[in-house]
Amino acid sequence: MKARILGTAQDGGIPHLGCQCDACTTARNDRSKQRFTTSLKVFDEDKGVNYLFDATPDIRFQVEDTYIDGIFLGHGELGTITGLLYLGKESINANMVPVYCTPSVKEFLKDNYAFRLLIDRNNIVVNDIAENGPVEMMGLTVTPVGVVHRYVPTDTHAFMIETENTKLLYMTDIDYWTEEAIERVEEADIALIDGTFWSEEEIDRYERVPHPPIQESLEKLDGADTEIYFTHLNHTNPVLDPDSEERQQVEDAGFHIAEEGVELEL
Ligand SMILES: [Zn+2]
Ligand SMILES: [Zn+2]
Repeated sequence: MKARILGTAQDGGIPHLGCQCDACTTARNDRSKQRFTTSLKVFDEDKGVNYLFDATPDIRFQVEDTYIDGIFLGHGELGTITGLLYLGKESINANMVPVYCTPSVKEFLKDNYAFRLLIDRNNIVVNDIAENGPVEMMGLTVTPVGVVHRYVPTDTHAFMIETENTKLLYMTDIDYWTEEAIERVEEADIALIDGTFWSEEEIDRYERVPHPPIQESLEKLDGADTEIYFTHLNHTNPVLDPDSEERQQVEDAGFHIAEEGVELEL
């Protein structure tokens, strides 16, 4: 089993709509600088296993497989559910692709007509998962881990993805670190974690869209014996620039910035 990083940007992607900052301007002119919205594929080519974590607005660039065994959704936002729309009849007209989420995300999908149509037309079949109960399937155990992410209309869960050998934590979108969240990172062998901002000063409306700043996370997770990748990067984040001092600090501390296409052995 392997995981492949399919996207590393915050929900709005890079470039960000209507933004003329350096990172966005560069990304518009040079496609190699674009970053797709955060997503992960967990797969085993020999066994024909293929799961997707988050259905992003960039899904048509991210998914090349002709089959998907299931899509896990941690919450209901731009970066996590809008890709489902490409399973509809305007695009691939999928046949009963299983979607796994908690009841609150399921209700949110059912209450929104564009998504409701996917359910009514059998493009997707939405399966309830218990808030903290494991889901076992095809050599994987996936356990939703409740996290604090208060400003969204559904509850929010990270996922602990376990194979026989490895625990991978996918915790890409949280408001701040709790003790439990830190314990989960420490418990994992590999963790993809929220690296939206470098610092609180990075955007004016930080209070309304809080995320743990990377510079704090480096301290809080200092002792963890875990291979840690920062993802869900906002277009304002200085670590996007490989030559920045901030990037250097992350690497010197033994952490990584997630990059699209990177494969992790599970
Ligand atoms: Zn920008
Ligand atoms: Zn979110």
